[in-house]
Formats: sequence, structure tokens, C-alpha cells
Amino acid sequence: MKQPAYKSHIEAIQCYEPGKPIEEVQRELGLRNVIKLASNENPLGPSKKVIAAIQKAGRSVHLYPDGGMFRLKKALAKYHEVKPSEIIVGNGSNEIIELLVHGFIEPGDAVVSSDLTFLVYPLATQAAGGKYIHLPMKNFRYDLRALAKAVSVKTRLVFIANPNNPTGSYVSQEELDRFIDSTPPNVIICLDEAYVDFTDAKDFPRSLDYIKKKRRQNVVLLRTFSKSFGLAGLRLGYGLANETLIGYLHKIRQPFNVNSVAQAAGEAALADTAYLSQTRNIVLQGRNFLESQFRGLGLYYVPSQANFVLVCVKKNAREIFQKLLKRGVIVRDMRAYGLNEWIRVTVGKPAENRLFVRELKKIL
Ligand code: PMP
Repeated sequence: MKQPAYKSHIEAIQCYEPGKPIEEVQRELGLRNVIKLASNENPLGPSKKVIAAIQKAGRSVHLYPDGGMFRLKKALAKYHEVKPSEIIVGNGSNEIIELLVHGFIEPGDAVVSSDLTFLVYPLATQAAGGKYIHLPMKNFRYDLRALAKAVSVKTRLVFIANPNNPTGSYVSQEELDRFIDSTPPNVIICLDEAYVDFTDAKDFPRSLDYIKKKRRQNVVLLRTFSKSFGLAGLRLGYGLANETLIGYLHKIRQPFNVNSVAQAAGEAALADTAYLSQTRNIVLQGRNFLESQFRGLGLYYVPSQANFVLVCVKKNAREIFQKLLKRGVIVRDMRAYGLNEWIRVTVGKPAENRLFVRELKKIL
């Protein structure tokens, strides 16, 4: 019988499994009080200034958005001291990942990254028929020497999440400089900095310099409004690179890929510096709290530069996840990565962090 021409490399894809939404857990388990520490969202809720901007933008939703995103790109250009032509905005930074793969990967081309990193890199690569080469990590950190060796004539793209999800670890300025120097200029190096606003390590790379000062033609930075700016539900992220590369990506995005409400919210979020510093404070304090509690419990964890911590619970993580769920705490179990005794917990508000630790202690 004739059937649609399903592609085998797309049929083989395992769908991405997002963190469980609060409502779903309430519905399925009949719970009233549920906290979500599963998707690295902002514990503060949205900024008041952003809510006001969203309400205002709501009055114009009968009109198409500004496809050129003039105002938001101008605000971003000012924020990062780059030119608007060096920015591409997307429906989440996820979209920029897809544009990069779409723009540069043909069937058989290779994408290089690590095995314990953001699952959208392999998904996007597989969808394009590319070959995803994932190197083992070293002590839960990207092994950039191994990545450099794995780059071949087939390699078009390298993804480095820094800080990395789900480990929270980071690569240093020196490691990254060495890697970039040793990588052929025709290979695009995508530095995905979704969690950059939560870093405090002295040797964390000053990545904007690769674009602004060193003028690297093959470096792309990814940033998002989903984490530190608290706009995960609106889907807003962007890429920074040289004009030529950005211009190339613009050719393949949808004409109206970012909605008008998200554009207005992004602009307001950039201006609300008090919200950003409050977020940073609450996350850094909460991260310290969680890490010190894990030390107290004798649990191994990966020191984090992000707004989550990866911790080994020394028991079947799926069971721990289910037990926490029944107690109204949603975390992420790490089976998708083959880490069967590990969970990833997002830093919440102080009371949420305490509740999580209390319930975890009871279960363990
Ligand atoms: N990169 C990394 C490393 C992430 O963890 C995430 C979100 N989970 C993203 C990109 C995508 O973020 P968004 O599409 O919400 O901007």
C-alpha cells in the first residue's frame, strides 16, 4: 500500500520530553500544592514591568508583529554594544539552534558536541539527516581537547553549552580560547549561553569579545529570555554573530517568527535591571543552599554555575522522581541521559528549596 514518504532518520527520533507542567501533576495526582523545579525557570515569576508591557502590547495583537524587530533589536544592540545587524531573534533560542542546523547541515555532515548536554542539539541534527558526534565528558565537564580531535572535514557545527545543561559545569576562558584557535574557521562554533547570567566564576569566558573584539567569523553566541529574564512562556531568544552569518540565517527564518507580545516583553525585560539582579541574588543564594544541603547529606553533586544542580541520589532516580511528585515537587530525572541515579533540580524560591530538601530527606 502506498503511504506518505516518511523519512527513516526522522522516524528514528525520540521525542523531547519536557518537564511536567504543574497543572498536569495537579490533575493526575489530585494535588493542590505543587512546585516545579524541573525546567530551570525563573523562581520570581515575571517582572511587573514586563506584565505592564504585555498588557499594552495586547491591544495591538490584531496586527502582524514587526518582522524586522526594530525596537527589540535596537534594545539588544544597546545592551550588548553590538550592531542590530549582528543579532537574530527567535522563538526561543531553540529556534536559532534549528536555524543553524537548517542553514549549515546537509545529510551526512557532522555536528560535534558532548554526550551530556542539551538534547535539542541531537534532535535538530537528526532531523536534518546529519551525524551527531557526542564525546564523553570528563568529570561532568566538556572535554574540549577531545572535541577538537573529533572535528573532521565533515564537521560543520560544534555546540558548546556554557554553562552546560544538565551538568551546570562550565568551560573556562583559557580552554575555550585554545579550542577556538585550533578549530578550522569553516566550522561554526555555537556557544549556547542560556545560563550565563547565573555565573560567578572568575575564569568564565568573556564570549562577546569573540564577536566584538576578535571578530571571529565562525562564532555564534546564543542567549535566551527564558531563564534570567523570566519569559520562558513567551518563547524569546537570540543569536549574536558577524553580520554575514546573521544575514544568512535571516534568509531562512519565518517572516514573523517572533510574536508582538514577546517583542514588547523582551524590550521591557532588558530595561528592568532590578529584576535581573534580584533573580541573580535569589539563584546564587539558593544554589549555595542546595549544594550545602547535598554536602550535608553526603550526596555527590556537580558544582553548578547555572540555576539548577545535578545530584546523584544513589537510588533509582525514576523512583525518587515519582515519590517527590506524589509530595508535590516536580524535578527532572536524568534517565534520558543514562544517568539512572541522578536528578536535576532547579533552584527555586527559598521556601521551595527548603521544601524540596525536606521531602528528599524523608524519601532517602
Ligand atoms: N540551550 C540550553 C542549554 C537550554 O538549557 C535551553 C532550555 N532548556 C535552551 C537552549 C532553549 O531555551 P529557549 O528556547 O527557551 O530560549
